[in-house]
Amino acid sequence: MSKVLIIGSGLGGLSCGVILAKNGYDVTVLEQATQVGGCLQCFTRRGARFETGMHFIGSAAEGQTLNRLMQYLGLNDDITLSQLDPQGYEVVALDGHTFRFATGREAFIETLAADFPHQRDNLVRYYDLIERVAGASSLHSLKYAESDTAVNTEYQLRSINEVIDEVITDPLLAKVLVGNLPLYAAERDKTPFSTHAFIMDFYNQSAFRIVGGSSVIADSLVKTIERHGGRVLARQGVAKIVCDEQKALGVITKDETFYEADYIISDAHPKRTLEMIDSKLIRPAFRNRINTMAQTVGGFAVYLDFKEGALPYMNHNFYGFETSTPWDCEHYDEASWPKGYLYMHFCQEPKPRYATTGVILSYMQMSEMEPWLGTHVGHRGSDYEAFKQRKAERLLDVLERRFPGLRASIKHYYTSTPLTYLDYTGTEAGSMYGIAKDIHLGSACRVPHRTRIPNVLQTGQNINSHGMLGVLVGTIVTCSEFLTAERIYQQIKAS
Ligand SMILES: Cc1cc2nc3c(=O)[nH]c(=O)nc-3n(C[C@H](O)[C@H](O)[C@H](O)COP(=O)(O)OP(=O)(O)OC[C@H]3O[C@@H](n4cnc5c(N)ncnc54)[C@H](O)[C@@H]3O)c2cc1C
Repeated sequence: MSKVLIIGSGLGGLSCGVILAKNGYDVTVLEQATQVGGCLQCFTRRGARFETGMHFIGSAAEGQTLNRLMQYLGLNDDITLSQLDPQGYEVVALDGHTFRFATGREAFIETLAADFPHQRDNLVRYYDLIERVAGASSLHSLKYAESDTAVNTEYQLRSINEVIDEVITDPLLAKVLVGNLPLYAAERDKTPFSTHAFIMDFYNQSAFRIVGGSSVIADSLVKTIERHGGRVLARQGVAKIVCDEQKALGVITKDETFYEADYIISDAHPKRTLEMIDSKLIRPAFRNRINTMAQTVGGFAVYLDFKEGALPYMNHNFYGFETSTPWDCEHYDEASWPKGYLYMHFCQEPKPRYATTGVILSYMQMSEMEPWLGTHVGHRGSDYEAFKQRKAERLLDVLERRFPGLRASIKHYYTSTPLTYLDYTGTEAGSMYGIAKDIHLGSACRVPHRTRIPNVLQTGQNINSHGMLGVLVGTIVTCSEFLTAERIYQQIKAS
């Protein structure tokens, strides 16, 4: 039985673990943190539970792409989903008005056409394009060997704003359509339209919160790996991938344990992975390319613990903008922060009446963390605590203006910064979604799942794309090296 060692227990690492363990490989997952899951982790303070990364998923209704993948991974039996309001799962506040994204093609078009009647035909063209681009990728639509490379290439090389401005002639509607861009940290003139199309298609089909929090996904995947004879070990940070002249032999953990392996898959950020490898097989030019890649922006989060029965549960996500556009919120100074934010409630039961916990999330650049670089959780000093409190109060003031009385319903709040993510997941520069896509760089901003070391592979959000579906598509790509894509598709179909 071939031994596969997986570095990192994020969604990418665990889902590779499930597929390979189910197919007869001897899987061991090594996780540096105390808790498994990476961005699937939840934490509990004074009995209140908070998600740190994945907050909601799409395309999870019966027969839809993610639902089929979750079935294949054994997730459907273990997790309960709570559907966000189909009449407006996203609410975007812009220019003094609120706009809703409704679930499904007709509802999406009709809801926005009610606000922009003169753009109805353009909304149809926009939706056609979203479906065409998302459907052009065989992996995203799970239609084996039916990808349309011409469409894929075109929309990877054209920016979101360029394409939307071509289709939508009302400037406000063009901005509303990117109202949920904090979900993919898009940058004007830079992020490919395909990234926007995948996210919109994914969530417009159906949108759900995960009852009990995203950690239930990690727990379920661990259970399946173990059921197939594998193991997932926490507090086992990998320090080094040991190689001879031709291939990798295994890894050494930070506590100097050696794990032998026939294959190694790294779910860590590619820069972290290269730090573990000291082999001539990795060319300096490749190392340099990975090390200098731009990252998506980091995030500052305020986790809210609400008083019991004080606040009705909000069954949608709310995107607020303090400027007249969702674009450019990553460029701010002390006075202009926060330019935008995402506010949502967490879901602890299928149909909650009242909010128990929630989060406000806004962009934060790693450059703001300069004074505390090199420090670790719990030991960053009182000036860091004061910084976080000042930022949290600023965000709460902004939210209070939008939702008067909100402050009075908060029992406690907690915060995290890009440094928190760097510590907990190793993501470069505390970035939320990993390496940034850039139309000007084309394939140069893409990370291959193969490395020059034949038995070392990569997986996770930097291989294909971030998010539940983006990462699982990367997982299929990585696992195809062991099983062939065709076989994986057959297994998905059979499940
Ligand atoms: C704030 C935020 C909100 C998000 N919201 C959503 C959402 O609503 N919906 C959605 O679909 N997606 C969302 N995402 C994105 C999604 O959570 C991620 O794309 C996905 O979970 C990433 O999984 P991963 O396996 O690639 O990486 P990670 O989750 O980062 O996992 C990498 C793992 O590798 C481990 N590791 C690193 N180095 C080592 C080492 N040397 N030894 C051992 N282990 C190591 C880390 O500790 C970590 O556990 C969000 C992300 C963030 C940050």
